[in-house]
Amino acid sequence: MTQRKYNFCAGPAALPEAVLEQAQAELLDWQGRGLSVMEMSHRSKEFVSIAEQAEADLRELLAVPDDYSVLFVQGGATAQFSAVPLNLLQGSGKADYVNTGQWSKKAIAEAKRYCDVNVVATSESSNFSTIPEPAEWQTDEDAAYLHYTPNETIGGVEFHWLPRVSVPLVADMSSTILSRPIDVSQFGLIYAGAQKNVGPAGLTLVIVRKELLGQAHELTPATLNYQTIDHGKSMLNTPPTFAWYLAGLVFDWLKQGGGLEAQAHRNHQKATSLYQFIDESGFYSNPVEQQSRSWMNVPFTLADNTLDKTFLASAEEHGLLNLAGHRSVGGMRASLYNAVGMEAVEALLEFMRVFEQQHG
Ligand SMILES: *Cc1c(COP(=O)(O)O)cnc(C)c1O
Repeated sequence: MTQRKYNFCAGPAALPEAVLEQAQAELLDWQGRGLSVMEMSHRSKEFVSIAEQAEADLRELLAVPDDYSVLFVQGGATAQFSAVPLNLLQGSGKADYVNTGQWSKKAIAEAKRYCDVNVVATSESSNFSTIPEPAEWQTDEDAAYLHYTPNETIGGVEFHWLPRVSVPLVADMSSTILSRPIDVSQFGLIYAGAQKNVGPAGLTLVIVRKELLGQAHELTPATLNYQTIDHGKSMLNTPPTFAWYLAGLVFDWLKQGGGLEAQAHRNHQKATSLYQFIDESGFYSNPVEQQSRSWMNVPFTLADNTLDKTFLASAEEHGLLNLAGHRSVGGMRASLYNAVGMEAVEALLEFMRVFEQQHG
């Protein structure tokens, strides 16, 4: 018998158990065809049907308008740090970036290889525990687009509002996509590595307004050129077929669970109960300003950081895995993606309560 534990990993992250069970049931013989999805040609009618159904379900979940392309690509969100400027600068030498933490910084560093980056605002002075006030943003009127990170996975800060800008809005939604409904029409481009809230590692989603396609820099690799990928239906070369299939099972699971409104409600409840517990405790604390706290990634510290190792070891013994903060910041972090249920949060709260009684 296998015993599954509660997994709070920031990524690759927990997947819905029902999805893993379905994949297991279909692993050797997908729907009576006598072979695994992993062993299928990506050009076969079987795999094409899996791919098309996944795209249709994603479009339905996010209500993606018809004038947007949905691409299933490789290279992670990190490849998108290059793909975005290569495709969207469109002859301009400038782009606007908002700096709200570690992932923003990485996107900025990569974009600097291709253009002048105008950092419109930064929350570095608050140690990235806030979101910069929009009134203070210094946008550049010649910028080709504005890039931001709606949810900073490491710092646990999240935008709970949409930036209003006159240029195409580009969002790295790696750790927040599918956590709630969004208005896709407000964005020029959305991208997300799958391994947080979508599926296994190896797959990246790109949702892009079609009118932004077709003006990539001439040196853009074909594998990063959105128009080329779009024309090839994301099968320019062999796609990550198993990850695409699994993402499709996750989309179906979300639909069965009532769609993104229902999921948002659950996510809000999970995050609220953990933040409330932390705020009421004199032992745990979270550094992020109230209105910018992430629903997906909840960093917290103990009153005495010499207890960190004890906390993590004891949590693991209680079946609560991967609660260490990112190596760059330390402390703790509980990631509460869609596949982490309320029962996991309740188990965590109970553990934290007892740990505080014993060590606080
Ligand atoms: C995890 C993460 C990335 C990096 O994703 P890779 O797929 O490893 O390239 C980028 N941005 C955000 C917001 C992330 O959470």
